[in-house]
Amino acid sequence: MPRFEKSKGTAAKNISKIISLLKKRYPDGFVGSNITKEPFQVLIGTVLSHQTRDEMTIIGSKKLFSQFPDAKSIASARVNVLRELIKPVGMYNIKARRIKEISRILVEKYGGKVPREYEEIVALPGVGRKTANILFSYAYSNPDYIAVDTHVHKVSNRLGLVKTNHPDKTEAELYKIVPRKQWKYINELFVQHGQTICKAKPKCWECPISRYCEYFKKLKG
Ligand code: SF4
Repeated sequence: MPRFEKSKGTAAKNISKIISLLKKRYPDGFVGSNITKEPFQVLIGTVLSHQTRDEMTIIGSKKLFSQFPDAKSIASARVNVLRELIKPVGMYNIKARRIKEISRILVEKYGGKVPREYEEIVALPGVGRKTANILFSYAYSNPDYIAVDTHVHKVSNRLGLVKTNHPDKTEAELYKIVPRKQWKYINELFVQHGQTICKAKPKCWECPISRYCEYFKKLKG
């Protein structure tokens, strides 16, 4: 893990309050986390979700898993059949080949199961830290990982919690800034915040955590 100076910014000092306010704002959890906890489906669903809206990911995942629920069935399915099923998601051509390849490796190396070793997960084609961390957080209920997608990266930087140019760097810094027992809340809360209020064009005047936000402070001048 890279070393860096711990931020002394307003957001960092108030991270527990920020989490508490976001929990109140988003009390029901987010839709993507409640579909399944089955490791294979979480893994493949997360691969399908790259650069795709949640609603489309859910439709594509449901169609896929209704016919091909596990690694063995996807590994032996034809790519054009997989492609048609996942078509609502972005880059469905590439993803159809990718999920078949991941499934083939799982069948050949791990008996069709998703391994529990982190290094084995990120060695799968097209699987990076974000996907692995989502798998560990949501399927394995492991609280020791913060999955950083574009929303978590954006909200963390706007708040001034971190100043980074890549989600992996944001992840590394968040581990130092956020108390360990609260790591498990970051993905779910920041993703919902990024999707509903802290959007590309942020609705700062509706934001419950604006008093701690560096972006908002600059906006007010
Ligand atoms: S104040 Fe604006 S920029 Fe800051 S977290 Fe809220 S919505 Fe995002």
